[in-house]
Amino acid sequence: MISSDRDEFEGDSIPPYANLEKSFSVKFIIVGDSNVGKSNIIIRFTQDQFDINHSPTLACEFGTKHIIYNDTDYLVQIWDTAGQEEYKSITRGYYKESAVSIVVYDITKEESFNNIKEWLNECKNLSPSSTLLVLIGNKIDLEEERKVTKEMGEDFANENGMLFFETSALNGNGIENTFQKCIENIDRRIREGFYDLNDLSKNGVKIRKNQGANNIGENTVDKKALAEGNKKKKKNDCCLYN
Ligand code: GDP
Ligand code: MG
Repeated sequence: MISSDRDEFEGDSIPPYANLEKSFSVKFIIVGDSNVGKSNIIIRFTQDQFDINHSPTLACEFGTKHIIYNDTDYLVQIWDTAGQEEYKSITRGYYKESAVSIVVYDITKEESFNNIKEWLNECKNLSPSSTLLVLIGNKIDLEEERKVTKEMGEDFANENGMLFFETSALNGNGIENTFQKCIENIDRRIREGFYDLNDLSKNGVKIRKNQGANNIGENTVDKKALAEGNKKKKKNDCCLYN
């Protein structure tokens, strides 16, 4: 519990959603120019690996990982753009029901930073209005080649209501923290009643039935999401990271 906002739920006051189910899946999408490191951010987070030859040609990709926070099991499901970003526009369906929309640029490529406005506009237009907007400056291991200062990223994020992080998918710096902070925000939103619980899924947050607190720690898999992913895999040569 990092945010001081949470303190109001401690002591005698009962959080509005205290008796909520203890397991949720949360849909993340990740956009930005080609080669900024989106696929490797997902691979680093879900598998703690770096794939130097990751193929940009697959039609759709998907990675999952659990984060346990506040006694709740969050299954993070991240959808990758799989090469569609070449066209600077991605099919509408991709943005649908995304709880978190992440825009990535490469700190060594000014053009990728100049394009984040376009990517943010796509997210604002096509993701649910509730989506949590996040900005990542990736490749901070290449500090000597840096063209975009941390301040430039921070300023853009502040002006546009986004969370901001710098990362390196190569050495893992900042990756875990980015997803952890996103889930902390989603957790707070759920507990503060930000989402209509009867219509959670259109906001990209789904209650996982029969996946209560007893299952926390087990390597449980969202079978429905996996089935969806596998269906697409057959259809579009899609790859599941795990
Ligand atoms: P995507 O097109 O945005 O999905 O980018 P990829 O994940 O395929 O990465 C594009 C290129 O950047 C690849 O050659 C990666 O090896 C490299 N790359 C990705 N992340 C990093 C990073 O954090 N640091 C460095 N030095 N290279 C990276
Ligand atoms: Mg990619």
